[in-house]
Amino acid sequence: MARKVIIAGNWKMNKTASEGKALVEELKPLVSEVTEAEIVVCPTFTTISTVVEAAAGSNIKVGSQNIHWAESGAFTGEISAVMLKEAGVEYAIIGHSERRQYFGETDVTVNQRLKAALAANLIPIVCIGETLEEREGGKTEKVLFTQLEGGLADITAEQIGGIVIAYEPVWAIGTGKTATPEMAEETHNYIRCQLKDMFGDAAEAVRIQYGGSMKPENSAELVAQKNIDGGLIGGASLKAESFADLIKNAIA
Ligand code: PEP
Repeated sequence: MARKVIIAGNWKMNKTASEGKALVEELKPLVSEVTEAEIVVCPTFTTISTVVEAAAGSNIKVGSQNIHWAESGAFTGEISAVMLKEAGVEYAIIGHSERRQYFGETDVTVNQRLKAALAANLIPIVCIGETLEEREGGKTEKVLFTQLEGGLADITAEQIGGIVIAYEPVWAIGTGKTATPEMAEETHNYIRCQLKDMFGDAAEAVRIQYGGSMKPENSAELVAQKNIDGGLIGGASLKAESFADLIKNAIA
């Protein structure tokens, strides 16, 4: 099954609104001819509306880096899916390893956020991945299985095709260490098999991104793998030229 490549830039806590606007203005002409990949940028909450405006009419879509599971209420400091939707957001990163590591994110809260994203018609990008200790301890598959089982609880076969999974080995995020294409493909294939067990043939439609030090130099080889359908990009998405080169190499 042909799955459309999806490349998303996770800006993390970088870029003020004016810096984000400048980045998108620079990126637009560099990727305007790209039709083979969905391009998404995920700014901070305060930068979202400026970036939505700057990206309007282009092939660049906007995502958030998190969402809360409730629609509204007494949750100081949080932002709901419906609020983001109204601001022009179309995608939501959920369960990034930094949220799991620093902000107490669990598979249960990932699942709650996922359901809220789907209810608001946002395309969720659900992050999973093992730490170095877990990989070295031979626990990668067990960890991914648990994250998939908990994170995707109650999701139906009808819904699964609209969910993007980002496989991000934690040891490869921001470290310059990338999983080799073969190593990444082996894990992506494992994820696809688990999704098939859970959802049957509908799993074929799920896009599984790779994340972890993807850059212009390695995006082609990674995305060429059978079960790697794009990338979730941190560092290399912060400069228009490197993000554009990474995208173009990935679909070349
Ligand atoms: C990320 O944080 O999702 C990520 C993949 O970061 P980097 O590309 O910098 O490793």
